[in-house]
Amino acid sequence: WRKLQDAPLSVDYEQKLQVLLKRYKEQLLASPKRLAEVEAEFIAQMREGLASRTTVDGRRMMMLPTFVTRLPDGTETGECYALDLGGTNFRVMYVRLGPGRGEMAACDVEEVTLPREIYTGPGDKLFDFLASTLKSFIDRHQASASTSQPGDSSSSETAVTASASASSAPQRPLPVVGFCFSFAVEQSGLASGKLLGWTKGFSCPGVVGNDPVALLAAALFRAGRPCRVAALLNDTVGVLAAQRYLDSDTEVGVIIGTGTNACYVEQLTALTKWTAPPGAAAGGDGRTAVNMEWGAFFSPQLPRCMEDLQVDASSPHPGKYLFEKLLSGMFLGEAARRILFTVAKEIPGLLAASPAATAAAAAAAAAEDEAAVGEEAAAVAAGIPGRLATPGSLGSAALSAIVEDRTWGLRTTRKLLASELGVHAPSRRAAEVAKEVCTLVARRSAQLTAMALLAILRHNGWAKAVPPRPVTVAFDGGVYERFGAYRTMLSEEVSEQLGEAAAELRPYIRFVLSHDGSALGAAVLAAAAVTGEEAAAA
Ligand code: BGC
Ligand code: MG
Repeated sequence: WRKLQDAPLSVDYEQKLQVLLKRYKEQLLASPKRLAEVEAEFIAQMREGLASRTTVDGRRMMMLPTFVTRLPDGTETGECYALDLGGTNFRVMYVRLGPGRGEMAACDVEEVTLPREIYTGPGDKLFDFLASTLKSFIDRHQASASTSQPGDSSSSETAVTASASASSAPQRPLPVVGFCFSFAVEQSGLASGKLLGWTKGFSCPGVVGNDPVALLAAALFRAGRPCRVAALLNDTVGVLAAQRYLDSDTEVGVIIGTGTNACYVEQLTALTKWTAPPGAAAGGDGRTAVNMEWGAFFSPQLPRCMEDLQVDASSPHPGKYLFEKLLSGMFLGEAARRILFTVAKEIPGLLAASPAATAAAAAAAAAEDEAAVGEEAAAVAAGIPGRLATPGSLGSAALSAIVEDRTWGLRTTRKLLASELGVHAPSRRAAEVAKEVCTLVARRSAQLTAMALLAILRHNGWAKAVPPRPVTVAFDGGVYERFGAYRTMLSEEVSEQLGEAAAELRPYIRFVLSHDGSALGAAVLAAAAVTGEEAAAA
């Protein structure tokens, strides 16, 4: 069996395989010249987005003003709840800021995986789900706080002008909530806005065009637990704010998780499409955080292969957020799976199903009307593993394990090929091919993320040689956090793309993982908003 597993491909097939892999490499990794062209388009689209009225077509960056004109400086204090609705999970936490400068702790965290019927079902149900999770979290938290440290939990929950909804708990101030909502929102204030469109796997009807804060507040009211939602923000803004609380050089917040996006601190004078609220320039430094929605960037020059078009076509939002589909965790595994599916069809025997599975699939196909047998079923009947033909079977966790596989004989990859993709007795060569394909897909993501980051730095003049100024880029998201080889590739790509300036500039560009940053930032901004209002009222 060992021999059979490691039997090399025939010379012809090996040659064909190499041609195929070379073609993917050329299609997926852009040459320096092409990257420079893409970067120029990226910067042009940024500038256009800052100047012209926002176009919402999922094919250009929206450059959304966030109303965050004053970023945290570490002196903010207070306690509040943070809600973090991301790509796959929903998190609730209780956050304490201070007493010392830059001190911040998530005291209590609960994470729930959203069921599919919640993130694709009616909007009201989604918000009812969020509200009831928050309600039981607050109830539990306040019960334990009042038994262990009487009075403490509400000490810094600030009194606010009672709204109609406060009547159910007249003597207690409403709990303060920061809402991190990881989608494109056109803000109309720090705590209001409207959803411009769903991305990732979300598609709840009845939410686009509406205010997520109003929907949440209404659901909390229905749940009998009214709260004061003091800030609504994108996850990139959360990451920026959380890191800025610790490090005043932080200028960019990036998410590379299920989805991807960045925000950065822009001059108010460059954001010409926007009229800053009165006092914005006075309170801050004449700059504001801009949510780019870089996932919506598109250029025909982007390095894509045929399988990328299929990934897009079969995604929940076809034709939109095409840059995100080359970068983020929701799509990396699927692109690699589709490429491996093509390879399996071209090189018979390399990634094959067991004879028994093939015979069963062939019998099933024969029983069907010929016209009813789809391309995938036909491939399976011809010996391709059913799971390899199935969308979504290769997740980003498996992809990263394959890219990072250092085991002898690529044992880990061989196991994953069998368990995830149904490959029968995967050979060493099959594992090498899988690793090469997964690495290419991940490398492309890192290359394009580096391109986009450098575009932001160059647009802002932060990547100029004299004098270099230190810039911290704060990252969050599962791909960045849990895929070490990806972080390495990203760093390599940044140096590579800086070219001759790398030696001088690279030490000034700092990448930091801001673990839980999006939620912590929501807490900081909510606490700061409440304190600011109190100060203004006093
Ligand atoms: C959303 C962004 C978000 C990003 C990362 C994208 O799909 O449009 O608003 O920041 O995912 O979560
Ligand atoms: Mg998140």
